[in-house]
Amino acid sequence: MQYYSTRNHAALFSLQEAAFRGLAPDGGLFMPAVIPHADLEKVRELSECSFSELSRYLTRLFFGDELPETRTDAIAAGACRFPVPLKQVGKDKYTLELFHGPTFAFKDIGAGFMGHALRALNRTAGETIILTATSGDTGSAVANGFYGIEGVKVVILYPDGQVSGLQESQMTTLGGNIFPLKVKGTFDDCQRIVKDIFSDADFRREKRVTSANSINILRWIPQSFYYFHGWAQWVKATGGKRPGIVVPSGNYGNLAAGLLAAKMGLPVRRFIAAANANDTVPKYLRSGRFEPQPSVRTVANAMDVGNPSNFERIVDLFGNDFSAVTARIGGYSCDDQTILETIRELYDRYGYLSDPHSAVGYKAACEFGIEGFWLSTAHGAKFGEVIRTALGKEFPLPSGLHELPGKEKLFTRIGPSTSSVENFIRSL
Ligand SMILES: *Cc1c(COP(=O)(O)O)cnc(C)c1O
Repeated sequence: MQYYSTRNHAALFSLQEAAFRGLAPDGGLFMPAVIPHADLEKVRELSECSFSELSRYLTRLFFGDELPETRTDAIAAGACRFPVPLKQVGKDKYTLELFHGPTFAFKDIGAGFMGHALRALNRTAGETIILTATSGDTGSAVANGFYGIEGVKVVILYPDGQVSGLQESQMTTLGGNIFPLKVKGTFDDCQRIVKDIFSDADFRREKRVTSANSINILRWIPQSFYYFHGWAQWVKATGGKRPGIVVPSGNYGNLAAGLLAAKMGLPVRRFIAAANANDTVPKYLRSGRFEPQPSVRTVANAMDVGNPSNFERIVDLFGNDFSAVTARIGGYSCDDQTILETIRELYDRYGYLSDPHSAVGYKAACEFGIEGFWLSTAHGAKFGEVIRTALGKEFPLPSGLHELPGKEKLFTRIGPSTSSVENFIRSL
């Protein structure tokens, strides 16, 4: 399979190039040149067994040209080993819970897949350094996704004093091939250093560094897999045929992956892009104008994105045809007040604990009268403060997260300078 850039369909790149570059040289996002067709009978059958079995089939469809089956199977088995259940909420509502992985958020799926896939691609290429800056959640998903992967070392920069204690624990208690750097500076400093290192050609000749950015093709493609699993479970539970699917969205990788699944043949009636107050895409869906805004802070902070990168993938999948986009996708956005009320409604009416991001999905599903399901992107207990504000009480952390606070944090303190970080990487 080859990959083109959203900004130039003529130049093709190998999987290896697309994976290690992250972003295309012209600044576009990589897209598969051929979208494979999934056999829905097979999908239903494999989905009955497990998400992991289903992922094994879909991984082969995408990567079977480059990698032998033993490798694609190992990637799927390593990355997709937790359940992705469709839960019934009340009498006739359903949500697909994507948060049963190691950090209890859906980014675990893409990050885990990328980790295992890089190892498979890496066998001949030698050691790779994954370099990433984080304001919290991405770092923990990447650390967990790449933990213990041979031939890969992960260097994570995070701002001192600006990530939550739980997030810091998730990044710093693993050890092994994970090297957290606590930077005396802001998240912007961390991002600047990472950018400087990626554009330092001399250093890149010396060390093979790559990013685990969420736009990477190896993180994006596997996100299409759980849509199939959700569909199969929903069909079985309801006897329906074509669900509507609501996607809580920020950078729009998740929704773009759903559209990819639809292109592979998944029957979906309609998608709904569910946003918080950062409503660049819902506005575009109404007006046809894509006007990025500075992001605003909300209680669903993993969706605080004013200029979503994966928007390019969405319009590319529709051949830049606005009417085709609006025929398939509806837009919804709401403010913090509504998110808090919705968390309360879900809890009071159904006894269901929802995190703030997923609550936006539920609200959109209600507003649009969706017959289908919304995606739940994180476990409610991860957002203790918001939940306390909404419900007036605390909920225990899931086991796994529960044990973290007591573990020893291992990190290196470092100043906000590119050369210090480069020297640190040389010393590994
Ligand atoms: C990242 C994230 C989102 C947004 O997903 P995108 O693919 O960026 O649209 C939603 N919810 C949670 C909990 C997240 O971590």
